[in-house]
Amino acid sequence: MRMALKEPVILPLCVAALFLLTVFFSIYPCFGKVILYPIYREFKKNSMSYQNARFNVEKSENFRVHYQDSSRECVEMVIDNAEKSLKVLIEDFDYKLDCKIDIIIYPEYREMAKKIGLGTGSTAMGVYYSGIISILEPKKWIRENLDIVRVFTAEGPVLHELTHYVIDYKTCGNVPVWFTEGMALYEEYKVNNVQWAYGKDIESFYSPDELQNDFYSLDEISAYKQSFIIVKYIEDNFGNEAVKKIIGLLKSGSSLEQAFIRIIKMDMKELFIKAFEYYDAGR
Ligand SMILES: [Zn+2]
Repeated sequence: MRMALKEPVILPLCVAALFLLTVFFSIYPCFGKVILYPIYREFKKNSMSYQNARFNVEKSENFRVHYQDSSRECVEMVIDNAEKSLKVLIEDFDYKLDCKIDIIIYPEYREMAKKIGLGTGSTAMGVYYSGIISILEPKKWIRENLDIVRVFTAEGPVLHELTHYVIDYKTCGNVPVWFTEGMALYEEYKVNNVQWAYGKDIESFYSPDELQNDFYSLDEISAYKQSFIIVKYIEDNFGNEAVKKIIGLLKSGSSLEQAFIRIIKMDMKELFIKAFEYYDAGR
């Protein structure tokens, strides 16, 4: 027989539990994130799907594409590009899909920006946020006289945003922005041979602290390019297996710095110096 706890006993227990959890998560913030973030993400994802209930839906093997009547023409092309991109990412990250991925095609940038809460910075062709990939209708940014399928495949946002999706799920959200941006740019480079800001050299690197904590307030081209260079340095010198191991450690609650020290045997400061030397020697 179990005695029911009386209120005066429950309250101190709850306070003590809350206190212990607060202490635990402040000592191990990354660990707290991998537990709490997926719950938040699924909540946000469901609320966004609901808001887009008025969209048409086309399903493929691994995707659910939400679109309005005016975007019907490009749905097949988006699905084809998404399925092919996913195949590459499954291999690169040992990713196992557990549900269909939602892609929303917005006919207007301002509608996409409003729904996702994008800032007033440069216009994005696509965005990954909370388990959902949003893209701008390709006709809005590909000129009429160009081969739309070729341009969308080579320069479109699906592979980039899908990389963010896979890394977000693989790490339970425990990943600094710069690292997932570097990975997304690296996938574009590897698959489509497209390099972010190609020809725009950078003369120095931001510090680990700046890149890690102030990514969005830094110069956009320099910050993204530096992220790509560091990821490329790791891929070129330690291989894709090292990247998979780093991501695996992030999922188990390690910080990125701890993962670097464990897998590539250098801290963030040393990594940044070596990556810049590697980039500088190759240009
Ligand atoms: Zn990105």
